[in-house]
Amino acid sequence: MNVPSWQDTSYGSKVRVARWLVEVVGEGNRFTKAAMREAFPGVAQIDRRMRDLREAGWVIDTNREDLSLHSNEHRFVAEGEPVWLPGKGKAKPKSSLTATQRSEAMKADSYLCRSCGVGAGESFGEGHGTAQLDIARRQVKLANGDTERQLVTECHRCRIGNRGSEADLTDLLRSVGTLGPVERKVLAQWMDADQRTYSLLERLWGTYRTLPAEAREAVKQAVRGESQ
Ligand SMILES: [Zn+2]
Repeated sequence: MNVPSWQDTSYGSKVRVARWLVEVVGEGNRFTKAAMREAFPGVAQIDRRMRDLREAGWVIDTNREDLSLHSNEHRFVAEGEPVWLPGKGKAKPKSSLTATQRSEAMKADSYLCRSCGVGAGESFGEGHGTAQLDIARRQVKLANGDTERQLVTECHRCRIGNRGSEADLTDLLRSVGTLGPVERKVLAQWMDADQRTYSLLERLWGTYRTLPAEAREAVKQAVRGESQ
């Protein structure tokens, strides 16, 4: 199927604004609301149609996520679902979590971000602010082949994918200076290979600790040799 042009008025404004982002703005670039409204003269609520794209996985930052943006700017970070294809990007029923579901999920996750391990209100260190935890839905493929969405605790930074964080080389070099000769040699090997090799045990642990509580429990039972 051909990809429609953003100027093709036979498509709805959500599809057109999606194509405008791809064709005119380009991934990674910023745009102003004024420029967008100018591109779609007379289209009511073009801002809203653009925001609706986020539900289809499109990443469009405001100055909340990207501090280098002005309040009237957005950044088109990444393309999501091809909303111009039939059946794609249709509004999904919004199932918002209850306060009880949220607090139970956080409790089950020990109030830690399951991706990076940071706790609520803890500092990320080096001026990156403090962690705000939220509940995300994670697709988990079960042992029987079914897929279900489970709840998992995640911090704000992991949710937006660590974008906008700044590396502090001074701090890193200071830490390197504290390594013993054996650690230093291992690190040098990883650097030469430009990758770290993980044992099976480490890989299992790494995957396990990011799982939602229910999925962690299933793995726990398997490890203990209990039937699932
Ligand atoms: Zn995190």
